Amino acid sequence: METVVIIGGGLAGHRAATTLAELCPEQRTVLIHGESGTPYDRPPLSKDFLLEGKRPTLKGSELYAKGVVLRDGTKATLIDPLRRIVHTDNGDPEHYDKLLIATGSRARHLENFSVDPVQVHYLRTESDALRLRGVLARGKRLAVIGGGFIGLEVSAIARRLGCQTTVFELAPRLLPRSASLSLSEWVATRHASQGGELRLNCANLRMSNNSKGEVLLTWDGGSAVADMVLIAVGIGPNAEIAADAGIDTADGIVVNARCETSVPGIYAAGEVTNYPVPALGRRLRSESWTVAGDQAVVAAQVMCGLDAQYQDLPWFWSDQCGVTLQSYGLPALATRLYRIGDVASERWLEIGIDDHGRFVSAVGVNPGRDMTQLRRDTKAGKPISPDIMSRAEEVDPSDLYLAAG
Ligand SMILES: Cc1cc2nc3c(=O)[nH]c(=O)nc-3n(C[C@H](O)[C@H](O)[C@H](O)COP(=O)(O)OP(=O)(O)OC[C@H]3O[C@@H](n4cnc5c(N)ncnc54)[C@H](O)[C@@H]3O)c2cc1C
Repeated sequence: METVVIIGGGLAGHRAATTLAELCPEQRTVLIHGESGTPYDRPPLSKDFLLEGKRPTLKGSELYAKGVVLRDGTKATLIDPLRRIVHTDNGDPEHYDKLLIATGSRARHLENFSVDPVQVHYLRTESDALRLRGVLARGKRLAVIGGGFIGLEVSAIARRLGCQTTVFELAPRLLPRSASLSLSEWVATRHASQGGELRLNCANLRMSNNSKGEVLLTWDGGSAVADMVLIAVGIGPNAEIAADAGIDTADGIVVNARCETSVPGIYAAGEVTNYPVPALGRRLRSESWTVAGDQAVVAAQVMCGLDAQYQDLPWFWSDQCGVTLQSYGLPALATRLYRIGDVASERWLEIGIDDHGRFVSAVGVNPGRDMTQLRRDTKAGKPISPDIMSRAEEVDPSDLYLAAG
């Protein structure tokens, strides 16, 4: 019997395990999961989980009681590609015929500040979210470092729980890597209208404890105090285990459209990968739930001998302040923008076109069916539908995206 070993029990590892169990039930599938319990879903951790505390389960978890071997609370420490063995931190190595690396990402940590660790939070895992949930109480002052999606989602929820929130962003605007100026401004206005404070251009941000034990934040030109701080300044791929095994890495594990790495018999899927997107003429490492899940299905299909490829544009959504923001493609590549709807409303969409006249992005607030159609057509290799373009108006070029940071 062939054994497929998966390292990492996030969405990608779980989706691969469930697909393998369905497509190749005769294989033995082992999931080495660094966290405890069955795999869970991450997006709710910055949203409903903070309000309700309900464990965000993933569809198909019953498989772990029915055949897929789940080794939870176990870290893979070393891959030996010559002998096809994965070593683990609990001493029991695992032999594989095929290996899938789905180790995802970890939160980027800030160094060089001196604040009581009890007051400092990151948000990546269920235990991070439980810890954060425990301190978001009425009247507390939460400082969020980083005006990206996760920091903004948490600040919106924290206000619903009665906290005062301030978001500190180094760039001159929110969502600097993923939004047009109009979307950044829309989000800033929305947060401000719901009582959220925003501090942009916070160069040289420093943190320490003052004599009252509060968190003192200072930056060029200002200072503020808070009871606790959430650091949400991005993530980095857990690719070291692959690099140590001699697998090619470059901002993630380098894979082709079949999720194959540079070492035969070893595949990778999810946030840890750097994968080709021919429609954009480049490789990407995406921080997206949809990419992680869909790519893992392709990896499992290929491992079962099917002909499958993953090379879609990334799609991401964010729920905050009562609306859904969506981003498709790579907004930073756009050199021309077309908009459907009024930016003063709660429903609009911007389409980005690059210098070659190629569709490269769509970003919007509650964009609904237009976004669904753009995604469907792009996936099928079709141009933007005339119906969508006939309703779109060109946006002033000064409203373009900042270059990707
Ligand atoms: C708070 C939060 C909110 C989000 N919200 C959204 C959203 O609204 N929309 C959206 O599109 N995306 C969202 N995302 C992103 C989305 O959840 C991720 O893209 C997706 O979960 C990535 O899945 P993954 O399996 O590739 O990686 P991960 O979820 O990172 O899973 C990797 C797993 O591998 C484990 N691991 C790592 N190394 C080892 C090892 N050596 N041995 C064993 N196990 C190991 C890790 O502990 C982890 O459990 C959010 C992410 C977070 C953190």
